[in-house]
Amino acid sequence: MNDCIFCKIAAGEIGKLVYEDDYVAAFDDLNPVAETHVLIVPKKHIASLNEIDAEEHGAMAGHALAAAAKIAAERGLKDGYRLVSNCGAHGGQTVMHLHFHLVGGRAMGWPPFPEE
Ligand code: 5GP
Ligand code: ZN
Repeated sequence: MNDCIFCKIAAGEIGKLVYEDDYVAAFDDLNPVAETHVLIVPKKHIASLNEIDAEEHGAMAGHALAAAAKIAAERGLKDGYRLVSNCGAHGGQTVMHLHFHLVGGRAMGWPPFPEE
């Protein structure tokens, strides 16, 4: 049985999608850190960036990046935005289904600070 929450959301079983195509789905983050905080996920379960194979997942990855730009344009993020995928413990990944955070609506700093 697959009890992955992002698989269920991507399949449209729960929540509301803001974008979908054959490869990826997108939905608003439950705990947004900015005015726009959308998660873009592959429809097929992949745990993290570590599982990416260029041949197998190239089309999905391309669709994920294109979806980010499309959603950013729809949300009017003309001053820019950030797209990030947290991977593993040091990356701060908490949900083990690959996702890209699209965050925008305010200026952001760089670099990311270490955990306190
Ligand atoms: P991570 O820490 O893995 O990079 O990001 C996981 C993100 O998923 C967090 O920003 C968190 O708020 C979001 N999240 C966790 N559970 C749910 C959920 O059930 N629905 C939605 N929409 N977002 C979730
Ligand atoms: Zn999943």
